[in-house]
Amino acid sequence: MKEKTAETVWKNCLRVIQDNVSPQNFATWFEPIKAIKIQDNVLNIQVPSQFFYEWLEEHYITIIKKVILKESQLNPNYCFDNFVEGDCNRLARSAGYAVSQKPGGTAFNPLLLYGGVGLGKTHLAQAIGIDIKKNFPNKTVLYVQSEKFIAQFIDSIKNNNQNDFVHFYQMIDTLIIDDIQYLAGKEKTQDVFFHIFNHLHQLGKQIILTADRAPVEMQGIEQRLLSRFKWGLSADLQTPGLETRIAILEKKVYNEGIQLPKEVCEYLAYSITSNVRELEGALISLLAQSSLNKKTITLELAKQMIDKFVKSTAREVSIDYIQKVVCDYFDLNIDLMKSKTRKREVVQARQIAMYFAKCMTKSSLATIGMHCGGKDHATVLHACRTVNNLMDTDKRFKAYIEELDKKISINN
Ligand code: ADP
Ligand code: MG
Repeated sequence: MKEKTAETVWKNCLRVIQDNVSPQNFATWFEPIKAIKIQDNVLNIQVPSQFFYEWLEEHYITIIKKVILKESQLNPNYCFDNFVEGDCNRLARSAGYAVSQKPGGTAFNPLLLYGGVGLGKTHLAQAIGIDIKKNFPNKTVLYVQSEKFIAQFIDSIKNNNQNDFVHFYQMIDTLIIDDIQYLAGKEKTQDVFFHIFNHLHQLGKQIILTADRAPVEMQGIEQRLLSRFKWGLSADLQTPGLETRIAILEKKVYNEGIQLPKEVCEYLAYSITSNVRELEGALISLLAQSSLNKKTITLELAKQMIDKFVKSTAREVSIDYIQKVVCDYFDLNIDLMKSKTRKREVVQARQIAMYFAKCMTKSSLATIGMHCGGKDHATVLHACRTVNNLMDTDKRFKAYIEELDKKISINN
């Protein structure tokens, strides 16, 4: 089984080599090579003799390394098609797309993608790499986690082949280093990266970096590196808004070929606001729950699951979710609630949403106002008073509120 895999990998390599050397050289130097095994991403090949080895090393090592690299570290699922665009990522996505069309040929070099955990940095960086490989099959694209880069560097010191390490990286056409913040405090690694960076940049090779924060906030990274990051473009990835969260879930569900009721999809998107990874996590737990317990996925099941899923993080209801429940209840379009309109029925629903947001979230009056038609804090305060007064005087109104309260409360 193992031999087979090594053989296939080597066969793929040969196909590329064949396009790059003369038929005679191919027959002489490459056909006799045997693939032995592949393990931990290392392909072992066997050559007929020491002389053969030295000759290959001298003449063909670059191309051999290059084609082996083509078996690269990119995850095909992390492509542009699967990356949902939203306000939260528009700049980063379009800069990334531009880079993928013209690596090294845009002003975005380096391209630094930064933002909090689970917001799509790795996905986007890989999507760029995948597209570059698609558009420019002869370019070598290397994606590497910075922890791995650091470990390889340390190994190279141990094995006394630091030059090989540097040369290896210097021959790459598109270098993607993920989570560059881990280089903080590692002066030697930063130093070697600095030289690799300069070399690649000078040759017009594309560099793509990701980090969990903006360059100005990075500590423990040398100034000369930080200043180089600013040569290109730093684009941030932000938390996705509600519509984007729904779109992301719908895309995942579609890709997985699963049936998920629309209300469940919306419920997840309304409830999980922190980042995309958690959103995906919730979806996966829900699917697992339903298949393990042989239950159909219903809103009820989703509510129970979410309740457990996020218990530890002391979740609070989101303003978005409150608005959604209130709008559904009064059969109103949510866009109206978020607009400035003063239509009577909208005004009252909006006041109710403000009231619940005040009672059930830790959001400030100003934030609540902003979410509800761009109103100021005084308007929210007035809304809360109005709702309280009406509850005291109008029994039917009070019943509405109590029913809504139940609907909004997650434990219900
Ligand atoms: P980060 O590297 O910023 O921590 P990832 O790139 O690993 O985040 O993203 C976490 C998960 O969320 C991945 O499974 C990724 O596919 C998904 N994801 C993030 N952003 C998007 C998006 N805009 N569209 C679709 N999926 C996304
Ligand atoms: Mg990542």
